[in-house]
Amino acid sequence: MAAPQKFLNFIDSNVPKLIDRLAEAVAIPSISGDASRRQDVYKMGSWLEAQLNKFGVKTEAIPLGQEHIEGQVLELPPAIVGRIGEDPKKKTILIYGHFDVQPANVSDGWNTDPFKMHFDKESGRMYGRGTTDDKGPIMGWLNVLEAHHSLGIELPVNMRFCFEGMEESGSEGLDEFIGTEAKKGNDGWFGGVDCVCISDNYWLNDRTPALTYGLRGLTYFNVLVSGPGADLHSGIFGGAVYEPMTALIALMGKLVTQDGQILIPGVYDGIKPAASDELEIYEKLDYSVQDLEASAGGKIAISDDKSTVLMARMRNPSLSLHGIEGAFSGVGAKTVIPATVGGKFSLRLVPPQQPDDIRAKVERYLEAEFAKLNTKCTMKIEYLHGGIPWVADHRHWNYQAAKNATERRTSSGGSIPVTLTFAENLGVNVLLLPMGRGDDGAQ
Ligand SMILES: [Zn+2]
Repeated sequence: MAAPQKFLNFIDSNVPKLIDRLAEAVAIPSISGDASRRQDVYKMGSWLEAQLNKFGVKTEAIPLGQEHIEGQVLELPPAIVGRIGEDPKKKTILIYGHFDVQPANVSDGWNTDPFKMHFDKESGRMYGRGTTDDKGPIMGWLNVLEAHHSLGIELPVNMRFCFEGMEESGSEGLDEFIGTEAKKGNDGWFGGVDCVCISDNYWLNDRTPALTYGLRGLTYFNVLVSGPGADLHSGIFGGAVYEPMTALIALMGKLVTQDGQILIPGVYDGIKPAASDELEIYEKLDYSVQDLEASAGGKIAISDDKSTVLMARMRNPSLSLHGIEGAFSGVGAKTVIPATVGGKFSLRLVPPQQPDDIRAKVERYLEAEFAKLNTKCTMKIEYLHGGIPWVADHRHWNYQAAKNATERRTSSGGSIPVTLTFAENLGVNVLLLPMGRGDDGAQ
């Protein structure tokens, strides 16, 4: 069902005003990770609440407790929740977004002040922190509310809103709030919700709108190898001692092949091959190997076949090596033998992989491979972080409805943890409806 013409006309004839509203939001530097900007995060929450109220949404600012940051105790920004529409015959849709942003400075490479939105009329592009992540998508919903409110058109669904101001800083306090509200059932803020819609991710490219129905999970490790009591000089000890770095490089070299095959036994257990309707999705996606290489900035795709590359990015697990800590990395040619080195790597997970099971397999494999090295160094494995993968039923009506407005469905490589919180606590279908393009440069 297409949007009513009146609605489309309203949006078209109000473009300058709607862009100004986004500029107003961008101008509030609501950086959640910077304690000195906390007042701006509060201000952004109040600004948003006032906007929602203007269009008839009943709201409440929910306190989420305190946090310790940079030696201070700070109030967390409240979650802004809202509701409009109480018709039991209509579906009830819960919208999520976040009104905080990542830090941004001109010195980071911006051509213009990141908190003064620059609208380039020629390209139609808007430059500013938060234009795409995630203030722009929130404005998208405000635009919908304003159009219906001004034109006196009834909303086709009941709407519920949950906006947070800590997404870029680990969504502190939000999971607990969602869990508590979910337990209240119909008396809670999310009572009667039939499905969730989250707009906080991106299209695959800069041409075609997309929907996302899966997010890969994560397990992150640091494997520490130690030997001498302190850093040694290779002129004195080289050749006479077992060296931690030599052992670590050997271990990290046994995790994954050059073309991305993970070498840990059992890691692929239970992962089903793509069904024919899923394969069809990849084949039909408006995406090319060149798109991937353009966004990677190098001709380095693992295959010339589009589906192979897309499945590698979206539906298969992967293992990446991230860094070696404690190694010499300065200028010149220091002849040090580092005493302790830590190698960081992580796996992106897909259903039915579970972080705990993968952790056990990784640890068992590292212990066995380390033993084979026959070194007198010692090894310790640290498990830094884990998150379970998520996949939604893309045949659900929530997706079918979104499909009428967009054209293609995707499964994405990134992570939006709140997706799982909503899916688990409310037990309803969750839709990821990106509004930003793949080349928006979100961080
Ligand atoms: Zn975001």
